[in-house]
Amino acid sequence: MNGDYKFDLYFAKNMDDKDVLGVYKSRFDIKENQIYMDGNSLGLSSIDAKEALNDAYDVWKNEGIQIWGTENGKYFKYSKSIAAQIAPLINSDIEEIAVMGSITTNIHQALSTFYKPDSSRYKIVVDELNFPTDIYAVKSIIALKSMNEEDVLVKVKSEDGRTISEEAVIEAMSDDVALMLLPSVLYRSSQLFDMKRITKAAHEKGILIGWDLAHSIGAVPHDFKSIEPDFAVWCSYKYLNGGPGATAGMYINKKHFGISTGLKGWFGNKDSSQFAMDHNFDQDPTAEGLLQGTPNIFSMAPLLGALKHFNEAGIHALRKKSLALTGYMMFLIDERLSEYGFAIGNPREDDRRGGHVALEHDEAYRISLALRDLGVIPDYREPNVIRLAPVPLYIGFEETYRVIEIIEKIMQEKIYEAYSLDRVTVL
Ligand SMILES: *Cc1c(COP(=O)(O)O)cnc(C)c1O
Repeated sequence: MNGDYKFDLYFAKNMDDKDVLGVYKSRFDIKENQIYMDGNSLGLSSIDAKEALNDAYDVWKNEGIQIWGTENGKYFKYSKSIAAQIAPLINSDIEEIAVMGSITTNIHQALSTFYKPDSSRYKIVVDELNFPTDIYAVKSIIALKSMNEEDVLVKVKSEDGRTISEEAVIEAMSDDVALMLLPSVLYRSSQLFDMKRITKAAHEKGILIGWDLAHSIGAVPHDFKSIEPDFAVWCSYKYLNGGPGATAGMYINKKHFGISTGLKGWFGNKDSSQFAMDHNFDQDPTAEGLLQGTPNIFSMAPLLGALKHFNEAGIHALRKKSLALTGYMMFLIDERLSEYGFAIGNPREDDRRGGHVALEHDEAYRISLALRDLGVIPDYREPNVIRLAPVPLYIGFEETYRVIEIIEKIMQEKIYEAYSLDRVTVL
C-alpha cells in the first residue's frame, strides 16, 4: 500500500470517507480539539462500556444478592459471559479462557500452575526487553521455590536495544529449560513475534510456553487453534478499552485441562459442588479452574460493552485498518520528519509490528510534552521513544496526518526547547 500514500489532507480525508469502520468513532468519548494516540496504554471510554456498567449497577440496585441468579447466572458466571466475546479475538474455545485478575496476578497463577522444576529441567527463559512486572513475577516463583535467580533465569539479549531476534529466542531453548514467557508484541518497539514459529520450536524441545498479549489483544488477531500455546495472559484496559484496571484474562490450552491450579480459590471449584462448602477443592477441569474469588463485576461490565465493537467490526478488519494507519504514519514520518533526526524504532514489515509506531528522537521527552500542550496525547517511554497508537476504532487517517503535522511544527519552530528536561512522571 505504501506507494499509494500521499502527504496531503485531501488524501487523508478521502481515505476516512471510504472507511467502513469510521462509524465506530461516534461510540467513543472523544474530546474536541484532542487527538488521543495513547490507546495502547489506556483505551478510551465508549457509550457501550458505560451502558454495560450502568446495567450491571442497576441489577445490583434492584436485585441485591439475587444479582447472582438473574439472567441465568450471567453475573455469577461473568468470566464465561466475557470469555465468549474474547474467544474470537484469539480463536480459542470459550472454555480455554478465564477472565480474572491482572496480568501480574495471572502470570503468578500461570507460573504456580505450570512451573514444576526438577533437577534436569528448571530454567525459565524471558527476554531482556520485557515489561518489569512480568520479570518480577518470574523472580517471585523462583524465590518461592527457594531456587537461585542466577541458576534459573535466562534472559534473551537484544542486539539493538529495540528488538529480540527470533533465532536468539530459539537458541535459548536448551534441554534444561522448563518454561518460557514472552510478550507477543514488545511494549516499546512494537515488535511482533512469530508466535507460531517460536511455540512450535519450544514444544519440539519439550518446553512449556506462555505469551503475554498486553500489546496485541484487540490489535492483532491471534489464531490459538493453530499456535497452540500452553498459556497466555492479557490485560483489558489497553486496546480492549475495558477501562482503567479492568479485569484481565488468561488462556490455558485445553490439553492442560485438569492440571492442578497453583493458586486455588472457590470460584475455581466446579459449579455443582461450589456451595457444598467442602474443604476439598473439586476443581473445574476447564480454564475456570484457575478462577479464584468472586468476579469483580464493576471491573468487568465495561469490558463486556467494549467488546461489542470488536465482534461487530471484526478483528481482522480492525487489524487491516490499523496496518494501513501505522503504514501511513511511517510514510509521513519518512517524508516529513526524517530531516529533524527522528527514527522509526519498530519493525516495518506488516507481520512484524503491532498496533503502535515507536518514534525515536533524542528530544522525545520534551517533544512529548509539547505534543500534549498542542492537543495530542502521546505516550513517552524512557529513554527516547514516543509511542503513537492510531487505534482503528477511533482514529482515522486525518488524525494520523494531523499528528505528524503537529510534530513537524514542534520541530520547525523548536517549541520543545521551552520545556524543562527534568522528568515529571508522565501519566
Ligand atoms: C501493560 C503491561 C502489563 C501491566 O500489568 P498489569 O498487571 O495489568 O498492571 C504487564 N506486562 C506487559 C507486557 C504490559 O504491556
